[in-house]
Amino acid sequence: MERNLKHQDPEIAEAIQNEYERQSTHLELIASENWVTPAVLEALGSVMNNKYAEGYPGHRYYGGCEFVDQAEEIARDRAKKLFNCTYANVQPHSGSQANQIVYYALLKPGDKILSMGLNEGGHLTHGSKANISGNHYEVYSYGLTEDGYIDYDNVLEIAKKVKPKLIIAGASAYPREIDFKRFREIADEVGALLMVDMAHIAGLVATGYHQSPLPYADVVTTTTHKTLRGPRGGMILSSEENNQKYNFNKAAFPGIQGGPFMHAIASKAVCLKEAMSNEFKEYQKQIVLNAQALADALKEKGFKLMTDGTDNHLILIDLREDEMSGKELEHRLDLANITTNKNSVTGDKRPISQTSGLRLGTPAVTTRGLKEPEMKTLADWIYRVYIDENNIPKVKEEVLELCKRIPLPY
Ligand SMILES: *Cc1c(COP(=O)(O)O)cnc(C)c1O
Repeated sequence: MERNLKHQDPEIAEAIQNEYERQSTHLELIASENWVTPAVLEALGSVMNNKYAEGYPGHRYYGGCEFVDQAEEIARDRAKKLFNCTYANVQPHSGSQANQIVYYALLKPGDKILSMGLNEGGHLTHGSKANISGNHYEVYSYGLTEDGYIDYDNVLEIAKKVKPKLIIAGASAYPREIDFKRFREIADEVGALLMVDMAHIAGLVATGYHQSPLPYADVVTTTTHKTLRGPRGGMILSSEENNQKYNFNKAAFPGIQGGPFMHAIASKAVCLKEAMSNEFKEYQKQIVLNAQALADALKEKGFKLMTDGTDNHLILIDLREDEMSGKELEHRLDLANITTNKNSVTGDKRPISQTSGLRLGTPAVTTRGLKEPEMKTLADWIYRVYIDENNIPKVKEEVLELCKRIPLPY
């Protein structure tokens, strides 16, 4: 097959090349991003893209599905094996779609859900007013303690009062291990269903570096492109018994989606195979070691962190009592080729466009090959950029040197 994008569409070829250059010359600390392997990317760019396959393996609405069936069956089997469960749906186009599918299966418009608020570290799709979930369902939020921990007593208290149909555990900006067992007990006490959205921590769960939600949740949703390091996409995991009861398959297709992205499903299968390897386990371990090294080094520099540290792949710098906003620190770091994102934190008095938090994650830089010594250097750079804008050019120079010394995997 001829690779002729450059010839046929030089404008897009240039945009892609520029993006590659950007990724090569910047340190990626956005907690939800990663670098997939060439094998994952190869499956994603394959002829599987060309196939319509509405339905499920063995029950399609189109002919010619024998090989996409093969890929989807392998993907499902690997997902079940990796996460030790009896049901997997690998068709959701994204994490958001996976969540919407589960809501469609479990809830009716107007039903009550209880989830972590967006400002506390929850996700848009957990009931934000700006999202369809916040409009179709009656949403209640649980809070965090002032230092940023989930307040389980508060969750129980609200659950008893509200009697939600569904409790959601899982977050986009929570630096500590989530106690899924405790959530199960709370759900049982009030007769609620429990959904866990493990989008951020799926790689850690797959390798045992975070407690698995599968034994506790009625259903688990995830993305495949964050710590799991696969193609952009989503998955739904549960028991076959629950699928019989709630019919997640039907809620996905024809409920919410049409034709599955077979190229993405083939690529998910590749990522799931990788996730079973020892190498991947070592990688996940290093993600956590790096996050802890970065947290310690930042604290040594005098930064305050939400929950004073981390158990997982991410860190939230606490700027609630600082003159500098999350937005300003993000901007300064951008100028020094360090990519991060501002993030609201609990009790944030600044508007969402400013915020009093900065979220840092180690999955992408760990894939790149950075280890504990570089985490110390990173903390030093963040400090110098924070303390004086005039340090930005010199820091950028040093970042570029590091990017040359430790290049991207391809
Ligand atoms: C990232 C994320 C999602 C959404 O994933 P998309 O693929 O961007 O739609 C859902 N839930 C949580 C907790 C997330 O962090």
